[in-house]
Amino acid sequence: MAQTTTRNYYKILGITQKTSKADIKKKYRELAKKYHPDTNSGSKVAEDKFKIISEAYEVLSNAKKRKEYDRERAYQKKSPRRPRSQPDWSGPPGGFGRESGGNQQRQEEPFAQEPEAVDPDMPTSGFDLQFMIDVPLPIVALGGTIPYTYEKYVQCEECEGTGSSGGDECPECQGKQLVVRSVTLDVKIPPGVADQYTLAFIKEGGAGRNGGPPGQLFLKICTQPHPKFKRVKNDIIEEVFISASLAEEGGPLKVDTLNGTTTIQVEEETLVGEELRVPGEGAAISWGKKRGDLIIKFNIEAE
Ligand SMILES: [Zn+2]
Repeated sequence: MAQTTTRNYYKILGITQKTSKADIKKKYRELAKKYHPDTNSGSKVAEDKFKIISEAYEVLSNAKKRKEYDRERAYQKKSPRRPRSQPDWSGPPGGFGRESGGNQQRQEEPFAQEPEAVDPDMPTSGFDLQFMIDVPLPIVALGGTIPYTYEKYVQCEECEGTGSSGGDECPECQGKQLVVRSVTLDVKIPPGVADQYTLAFIKEGGAGRNGGPPGQLFLKICTQPHPKFKRVKNDIIEEVFISASLAEEGGPLKVDTLNGTTTIQVEEETLVGEELRVPGEGAAISWGKKRGDLIIKFNIEAE
């Protein structure tokens, strides 16, 4: 506990004591998104930062916790020796990892103002989460389900969300009622969904407190590049190499499709760059009712 309070949560979130609740949430979302392990290819540094950001938000978004934190910090400020076991996270928002230098002289916000009093037992809703989800092109084109793992606050299992056990502060959640857990959601990708489209998952965000409702989860589709296929609206483009003799004489050719293979008929005297349209083998249209085409583009191998 003493260790955590050495962190300047205000600076971590890039806010001041006067920042509104809504803006704190906004800042948190920005940072959480930036440092979420999934958008940082599992980087340990990003993961640690994500945890610290979540911790800062956890405290500053809760009136009771924030009051305690402010009080402790005011006390620590007076004491000459300040434990510095944690890395300093000072700096502007988005500037994490940058060495700010002159740690001992970093500015502290005035503590004259007490944060606004809010009933700590009031039900508060969990916060919304938004992440990017990498989806393979064939699944974006034809739909499917992929598991997505992310971290969020869930009700503490130990105290069942009460924050206390046997009259004392719950050791598992330190009275926060919530704990960070990794969860996996089976995400249904609608067939033919547009790249960068954001899917909303009601109540899959962070858990609420004191019986408050959970937040939402928003996932933005990021189509993973495919070695064979390119998507252009509802059509799928595939470049294939054929031999010079096949190009000249024509004949059957087996090609890959999004979900299997098909045999096409190469015409006589096919030239480099010529296209052949395979109807109905493209991406889904209108959420699966129809499909675009597969467009085969010919390249001719040198003899
Ligand atoms: Zn607990």
